[in-house]
Amino acid sequence: SQGTGDTTDFKSLLLSRPVLDGLEAAGFNKPSPIQSKAIPLGRCGLDLIVQAKSGTGKTCVFSTVALDSLILENTATQVLVLAPTREIAVQIHSVMLSIGCRMEGLESHVFIGGTPLPQDKIRLKKCHIAVGSPGRIKQLIEIGYLNTSSVRLFILDEADKLLEEGSFQEQINWIYSSLPANKQMLAVSATYPESLAKALTRYMREPTFVRLNVTDPSLLGLKQFYKVVKSHPLPHKVFDEKVMHLQELFNRISFNQALVFSNLHSRAQHLANILTAKGFPAVCISGSMNQNQRLDAVAKLKQFHCRVLISTDLTSRGIDAERVNLVINLDVPEDWETYMHRIGRAGRFGTHGLSVTFCCHGEEENMMMGIAMKCNLKLLPLPDPIPDGLM
Ligand code: ADP
Ligand code: MG
Repeated sequence: SQGTGDTTDFKSLLLSRPVLDGLEAAGFNKPSPIQSKAIPLGRCGLDLIVQAKSGTGKTCVFSTVALDSLILENTATQVLVLAPTREIAVQIHSVMLSIGCRMEGLESHVFIGGTPLPQDKIRLKKCHIAVGSPGRIKQLIEIGYLNTSSVRLFILDEADKLLEEGSFQEQINWIYSSLPANKQMLAVSATYPESLAKALTRYMREPTFVRLNVTDPSLLGLKQFYKVVKSHPLPHKVFDEKVMHLQELFNRISFNQALVFSNLHSRAQHLANILTAKGFPAVCISGSMNQNQRLDAVAKLKQFHCRVLISTDLTSRGIDAERVNLVINLDVPEDWETYMHRIGRAGRFGTHGLSVTFCCHGEEENMMMGIAMKCNLKLLPLPDPIPDGLM
């Protein structure tokens, strides 16, 4: 029964063996709803804002993502976790150790005020995961004990507390700016006040919102559809069929801006030409373009010189356009990670969005169902005809 959280177990979340064994040893037999939603997205490398009531197992969410991301042979600090109180930091550390109990050589340590600094220095010689309070962590970076150059994952537990007006903002800003630019960030909170949204936009570029107790918690405000189209042995016939449905979609759905993903980059420019001719000014971005041309294409979208951008996966990563509220997969992506990355371009940060994936009857349709199952997606068939006000 796909689409319900009930049948998921940790094994379906594509975690490494030692982490799975650790979860079992720690007595975590079945993921909680927030865990089955957030862990796969976190392992995709997405920046996440995870919001769920206290006691729903959020610590396990980021601990699992963190542990699964580690390169144990490298003893440098790869994960940095901040918590608003010493007690929470200690608690997080103990969860890391219990889920990480089958990871040989794992080093997780707590760094909080009121403990001797020389001891911290020794611990930091080998420390995959550093958990601490903002004050002490900042101090350790400042005096050169904590080297942040290998940090790939930055976690704020109780982010709403951490970023509250007049609390740790300054220290967190400082720590954030000392971290490598290319890192993943997870913010976890029980509530989501307006001020937190504002504070987080400073750190996170295109966060995905994972929230419990809404109709589709995986991506708040993003409705995911699929559309089965006629299959045909000739690829260009399939293309024509999909383009026809694409036009219908554009005519029926009142979108701001759309991103269209094509698996084949040879088709991207052709598609842009067709759409432009049909009255939907489109530009394409592809691997055969140089960096300037790519930036130019994205700029056109951002400045509203076009409403549609056609892209392949090669070029999708740098696209950050906040008015995009429709993502079309002309073809089913090759893997579930790619699917998540693609659809994550719409409906960001609590805005409303819609995604439609075209799949040919048969093999492509099965691939789509496989992804839906793996990611526990609430995927709906696109109504035919497309009703008014679907967006
Ligand atoms: P939160 O941070 O959301 O308030 P915690 O991460 O502190 O919640 O978890 C609350 C309790 O639930 C903890 O005692 C934890 O061990 C337990 N727990 C979390 N996930 C699971 C699970 N999948 N199976 C069993 N117990 C769990
Ligand atoms: Mg918690």
